[in-house]
Amino acid sequence: MTSFTSLGITEPILQALADYGYEVPTVIQEKAIPAGLAGRDVLGSAQTGTGKTCAFGVPILQRLAQARGKKGIRALILTPTRELAIQIDDNLHAYGKNLPLTETVIFGGVGQAPQVERLKRGVDILTATPGRLLDLQGQGLLDLGRVEIFVLDEADRMLDMGFIHDVRRVLKLLPAKKQTLFFSATMPPEVMELVNALLRDPVKVAV
Ligand code: AMP
Repeated sequence: MTSFTSLGITEPILQALADYGYEVPTVIQEKAIPAGLAGRDVLGSAQTGTGKTCAFGVPILQRLAQARGKKGIRALILTPTRELAIQIDDNLHAYGKNLPLTETVIFGGVGQAPQVERLKRGVDILTATPGRLLDLQGQGLLDLGRVEIFVLDEADRMLDMGFIHDVRRVLKLLPAKKQTLFFSATMPPEVMELVNALLRDPVKVAV
């Protein structure tokens, strides 16, 4: 059986995963974590429940902790719903508890002031739903020009929920040079179009 230790994960994260009750990696973690840590783009066919949050969260945390970056948002996770966004941010907080990285989450349907306040204090990792992200960006309240790692989560649901245009607008705001981790439960043609436009020689992981 594969262990988290054999995937190349550093001690502060291994300890956090153990504290969180994770003993062995799931299939997607086993394949996506080494690829992500190596800086490769990843295309994951996986739905919620497979452990994909840890599969993209660990590479983000470890790579950002290892290389001191410029100030600003260094990783962006785009996800379709408020519930998913909150859950992802909570998990990142738990996995990264032994690292000096900061994260926050923004989503619509609530007042923006507390989110804006938090962004002003600076965050390394931002989890967001598309509408609120574009809204705050349009107001000049956040800058995506320094993103090093981008996660597109639940791409097929983005499509189903009518967020595809928002997603395309977000993509235009990101630097061309970045690592992309892309997840979708299904791969309909419109999702594949995004994949082809966005990913460079991805490691493909299907669950
Ligand atoms: P996700 O697909 O990322 O939403 O994860 C689904 C659930 O599985 C969440 O409750 C995670 O905390 C949990 N989980 C993820 N990876 C592991 C693991 N390696 N061992 C035990 N539980 C896990």
